[in-house]
Amino acid sequence: MPTLLERFFSTIILTVVAGFFWIIWDVITALVFYSTTLLLLHTYHLSNLIALEVWLKSLAHGTANLPNSSGAWGGIFSLLARLVRNQDQNQEQLNSALERLRRATAAMPEGIVILDEENRIEWSNKMAEQHFGINFSQDAYQQVTYLVRQPQFANYLLTRNYSEPLVMEQSRHHGLLLSLQLVPYGDKQKLLISHDVTRLREMEVMRQDFVANVSHELRTPLTVIYGFLEIFSEEDEIDSKMYKQAVVLMTEQANRMKGLLEDLLTLSQLENVRNQVHEEIIDMVDLLKEIYQETESIDSGRHHINSELNTDIKLLGSKSELRSVFSNLITNAIKYTPDEGTVTLKWEILGDGRGVFSVQDNGIGISSEHIPRLAERFYRVDLSRSRATGGTGLGLAIVKHALNRHQAELKIVSEIGKGSCFSAQFPSRRLIK
Ligand code: ADP
Repeated sequence: MPTLLERFFSTIILTVVAGFFWIIWDVITALVFYSTTLLLLHTYHLSNLIALEVWLKSLAHGTANLPNSSGAWGGIFSLLARLVRNQDQNQEQLNSALERLRRATAAMPEGIVILDEENRIEWSNKMAEQHFGINFSQDAYQQVTYLVRQPQFANYLLTRNYSEPLVMEQSRHHGLLLSLQLVPYGDKQKLLISHDVTRLREMEVMRQDFVANVSHELRTPLTVIYGFLEIFSEEDEIDSKMYKQAVVLMTEQANRMKGLLEDLLTLSQLENVRNQVHEEIIDMVDLLKEIYQETESIDSGRHHINSELNTDIKLLGSKSELRSVFSNLITNAIKYTPDEGTVTLKWEILGDGRGVFSVQDNGIGISSEHIPRLAERFYRVDLSRSRATGGTGLGLAIVKHALNRHQAELKIVSEIGKGSCFSAQFPSRRLIK
């Protein structure tokens, strides 16, 4: 960096030489020399100023070539060129940081809308476009309340109390429930964050239904038991026949509650993701023979039960969980097939390599509208029939969960009055020769 003295060096030299001329010649010669040199200096500065102006203009068009200059101007030009280079680098870094931020915001699972101080849309990401049914390229700088028209949203915007999110149904997108949160920032700007909570609401409704169903299922047997206990406490002497009948009925209801609690416990264990499947190699032929014998003895000849074990391929999975799956399907087939009906168990390998355990019956069958809902908890086609046969309405839910844990599928084919076929289809990677 030149010092102040260096900057004025040429002027000082010039003045000294002019003074020298004055001393040895005369004042006129000195003045002519002084003004000519000053004129030359002025021309030098002027031409460099013009070069600077041209350079600055060409910088704006991105075609800048650094002017060729020496002396003081040369130093200034290279200093300016360094500043411009640094600024370009900073700009590039800023652009790439902005681009990364834009891409990250665009990929966020939440909808993001930036609102200006007048609540106009300055920017929105793709998810916000989906949530609010807007198109940023067309709707930019529109009032957000023109696009999100629900009155509760307008109120929320006006209250200026954004500590709690607003949960509301999106009118342009039926069935979509959004949680909206406004976050003020910067100079009166706002960030509108939208979150799809439809699934959360469904789960909440399912939880409430579940609690209501369990209470209802437990209340019925409890009412019966409580009724008899009341009679016993009021009557001094109870007829022994009536007493025995009451005990039989109470035991029946107590068993029903026990069955329900056991099924609920099984279901909650299956649903708990922390409970890993305890895998072992299951000899399907042995297991199905066992279940077949148990079923035969419980059924005591009321149905024709056949078993077709077409392969001795083994299955990798949890024996206790799959035993409960197979038993549930067989018990259902017997429950929903009138006496003298036929129930056939089959274990086979399909052409595409899947292993299939199926139970075919020629019982009452199920009409098609019920089939997609059968594995829902407490869903029954005929409530009184299910109760009469000791059903809890949880059997197929248990089957479905246990099969899910084995990456297997439950398939149901049924025709009312003709019978049903329930099959558990296992992927080939679970089969062991
Ligand atoms: P449940 O304890 O009532 O049997 P499930 O979950 O095992 O409960 O079955 C749900 C419903 O599916 C039953 O109530 C019944 O209506 C129907 N269902 C299941 N298996 C059969 C079958 N083999 N034939 C006809 N209906 C069946």
